[in-house]
Amino acid sequence: MNPGAEAKVYFVGAGPGDPELLTVKAHSLIGRGDVILHDDLVSAPIISLAGTNARVVNVGKRCGAKAITQEEINRLMISFAQRGMDVVRLKGGDPSIFGRLGEEITALADAGIAFEVVPGITAAVAAAARLATPLTDRRSSSKILIVSGHRACGTERGGEKEWAKLIAEDTTLVVYMPGSDLSGLSRRLIEAGTSPEIPSIVVSNVSAPQEQQLMTTLDGLFCAPVNASPSILLIGWALRGAKAHEFIENEFCRVPVY
Ligand code: SAH
Repeated sequence: MNPGAEAKVYFVGAGPGDPELLTVKAHSLIGRGDVILHDDLVSAPIISLAGTNARVVNVGKRCGAKAITQEEINRLMISFAQRGMDVVRLKGGDPSIFGRLGEEITALADAGIAFEVVPGITAAVAAAARLATPLTDRRSSSKILIVSGHRACGTERGGEKEWAKLIAEDTTLVVYMPGSDLSGLSRRLIEAGTSPEIPSIVVSNVSAPQEQQLMTTLDGLFCAPVNASPSILLIGWALRGAKAHEFIENEFCRVPVY
C-alpha cells in the first residue's frame, strides 16, 4: 500500500502453473501486491509467492459452481483500489485469452480506476513448448485458430458449428476448455471436412508435475480416454513432429462418420 498514491489494479498472467514460467514483472507484482485476487487455475506454488501481509482471495468460478459472480469480483477490485490498495488480479495463462479481461477492464474504466495488463504464457504455447513442436510451420501451417470448446461452460458465443467451417489444411486449431469427451468434437470436425489423419494432441495440467500428454490423429481422438482438467487440445499438421509421452495409433479406433 502506498498512502496518498493512486492505487492500481494489475491484471497479471500467471502462466500455465510452473512458477519458473512467470515473467519477472509478474513475479515482482505478486510479491508486492496488497491484495491478490486469483482464479482457480492459478497454481499453489505461484500463490505462495504473495507477500506475508497480502490479502489473498480465491475468486475462481469454475464451470457450474459459481461461488462468486463476475459483478462481485468487479466490486472487490474496485473497493480495494478505492481504499488505496494495489490489487493483483491474477489469472491463469495470459489474461487476454478466455479470461473475462474485457468485462473487468470496462468495470474499472467506468469506476475511474487505473489498471495495467501484464501478459503471461498462455496454455497453448506452454503446451507446444512441452511437446517440442511449433504451432506454425512454413511448410504446412500458416494460421492459428484459438477457440473455446462449446461444452465447457456454455457461455462463450459461437460454437463448433461456427469455427469448424473456418478450419483449413494450414490451420493449427487450439481448443481451450475442450471438455472431457473429445469424440463428439472429433466427429464434428471430420464431418466439417477436416482430415481424419491430422495430428491431434491433448495436454492436461501443462507444466505441472501431473502433466499428461496424449498424441493421436483426429479420428484417434474418438478413443482418447477421459482427460484430466484443465486440458488443452491442439490439432494441426505443424504438430507432426511433436514428442508426446503417450500415443494412440489403433486402426480399429476410427470415428464412425455417418
Ligand atoms: N487465460 C488462460 C485460459 C483460461 S480458460 C490461458 O491463457 O491459458 C481455461 C482453459 O485454459 C482450461 O480449461 C484449459 O483448456 C486451458 N488451460 C489453462 N491452464 C492450463 C494448463 N496448465 N494445462 C492445460 N490447459 C490449461
